[in-house]
Amino acid sequence: MTRVGIGYDSHRFIKGRPLILGGLTIPHAFGLAGHSDADAVAHALTDAILGAAGAGNIGQLFPDDDPQWKDADSMELMRTAHELVRGRGLAVAQADVTVITELPKLGPHLGSMGVALAQRLGLAAGTVNVKAKTNEGMGFIGRGEGLAVIAVALLEAR
Ligand code: MG
Repeated sequence: MTRVGIGYDSHRFIKGRPLILGGLTIPHAFGLAGHSDADAVAHALTDAILGAAGAGNIGQLFPDDDPQWKDADSMELMRTAHELVRGRGLAVAQADVTVITELPKLGPHLGSMGVALAQRLGLAAGTVNVKAKTNEGMGFIGRGEGLAVIAVALLEAR
């Protein structure tokens, strides 16, 4: 049995927070606003994993009005979601992620981001691919107000 899920997330850039994407702290003048550490890459991939399993979404598992998840490590939330899915006899076989942002340039970080995501999910390096692109200057992303992430996860029975 194979199942596929899609995840989407967006967060607003703000001053005074580190920019955390895929578990990496990336040098930038802005971080992302959010209840947790606002790691939009981890959030989108978490939703893709949960979606594939028909197991709801990240907001149901880790409500953003619950003080327990204030400044939470989103990579750990993602790992927990994967454990839940593993409990249903499924595991990520492959995942693909696209980060859409004008700045910072993410090219130098994409490889290590994929490795970090795979590692936290307990998967072989190369299981998770991460790409980045701009929004060609259009809309809220183009104006540098925030970024968005789209993720797809393929789950297989394990
Ligand atoms: Mg989010």
